[in-house]
Amino acid sequence: MQILNPATEEVIATVPAVSPADVDAAVIRAVEAQRTWAAAPPADRARHLRRFAVTVDQHIEELAQLEVREAGHTLGNARWEAGNVRDLLDYAAGGAERLNGRQIPVPGGLDVTILEPLGVIGVIAPWNFPMPIAAWATAPALAAGNAVILKPAETTPLTALRLAELALESGLPEHLFQVLPGEGAVAGNALVEHPDVAKIVFTGSTRVGKQIMAKCAERVKRVTLELGGKSPNIVFADADLEAAVAATPMSFLDNSGQDCCARTRILVERSVHDRFLELLGPAIESIVVGDPSDEKTQMGPLISKSQLDRVRSYVPEGAQAIRGSAPEGPGFWFPPTVLTGLGPDAPAAMEEIFGPVAVVLPFDDEADAIRLANATDYGLAGSVWTRDVGRALRVSQAVRAGNLAVNSHSSVRYWTPFGGYRQSGLGRELGPDALTAFTETKNVFISTEA
Ligand code: NAD
Repeated sequence: MQILNPATEEVIATVPAVSPADVDAAVIRAVEAQRTWAAAPPADRARHLRRFAVTVDQHIEELAQLEVREAGHTLGNARWEAGNVRDLLDYAAGGAERLNGRQIPVPGGLDVTILEPLGVIGVIAPWNFPMPIAAWATAPALAAGNAVILKPAETTPLTALRLAELALESGLPEHLFQVLPGEGAVAGNALVEHPDVAKIVFTGSTRVGKQIMAKCAERVKRVTLELGGKSPNIVFADADLEAAVAATPMSFLDNSGQDCCARTRILVERSVHDRFLELLGPAIESIVVGDPSDEKTQMGPLISKSQLDRVRSYVPEGAQAIRGSAPEGPGFWFPPTVLTGLGPDAPAAMEEIFGPVAVVLPFDDEADAIRLANATDYGLAGSVWTRDVGRALRVSQAVRAGNLAVNSHSSVRYWTPFGGYRQSGLGRELGPDALTAFTETKNVFISTEA
């Protein structure tokens, strides 16, 4: 697989793709490694993960530079992402020592639950946040006593491969965390179909997620799905309009819009709609798009030519829009774009574009805002901008999505649960319960009457 720098289109590495036989051999090694790991005292597992976190911390800059080159992420973002891997490992390490079962009052004896690791976990990751998304699953799965085989996306395997080396350098036992770069339909599929892979954690498109869920169903294999989104940014007339406008550009332009939580449906109360657009124009035009390795850059390129073509297909020539700037020449560049002349059912207003494109739609009142917010098949994230606390709570409760923010666009924190409603996914990652998603609950009843 040729790995391109999306800002220059230069080939930066060539990585061999694994075969189904390679996956099989990796699973056999993982099964063996997991047995020993699961039998180790939780405090030992925690120590190993903390050492892994320290090793990642010592390589933040190297990992960040690699992510800038392979994924076109801005340097600031890439540094945050590498730091997030460290934090996820640290947080999960604490969890290893606090993974408690329960003692349940029953007649005739003592009843306890035990949380047992599942075994080997297959993690299939997308290209948009290669490091954090790999670590969301890997860190808690390891902490709970499992082995992990990670299949990174075809376009972005380099940071994942480096993390696997750092794991070994830190002293993590061999074969516990393996990274297998390869094609989705080959290597990814081999993990999904393998009888000794107990669970698949898939992050990617809703289309592929549905296929994987169907295949997992054949084996009743456990599955967590983190899929697409088309999230609303709801701005009420009583909001601090300047603050709402100032936060809007990066709510859908961060990572060039290749963010499952991007707030790409901007819903604005009709009475402030025109004023909102007036203020938004200069805010969009001021976004610095360019060389992702420059610290001043706010938005880099898209990941690939095919992604660029996809984004372009949603923005016809002459479309009514606010547009920012983008470099000319090599690289997969698309300018920040806010489409203003569309109806709520237009494909650009309903489908996940996964690029720096949002739509603005006016609404009449609270009920209309909620109706529009819930009008897509997705339900990942959303934001509510208002000064009315009651309204903020009512709307947050009424929007059918997993991650709501009030007067903010924050979605992902490793301390709090994350995941989608409806076709945005199944299950939750992160937060205090992250480890339990990688366990089976065993109930043991001990009679006191025998
Ligand atoms: P994708 O579905 O094309 O690929 C994701 C991963 O699945 C890749 O590693 C790919 O190789 C693999 N894959 C593809 N076909 C497969 C198959 N048949 N069997 C097994 N594995 C297969 O998605 P993408 O284009 O890489 O990522 C973008 C998508 O990810 C967007 O839809 C985005 O919303 C979503 N996403 C969701 C979240 C979330 O947490 N909900 C986070 C990030 C990205």
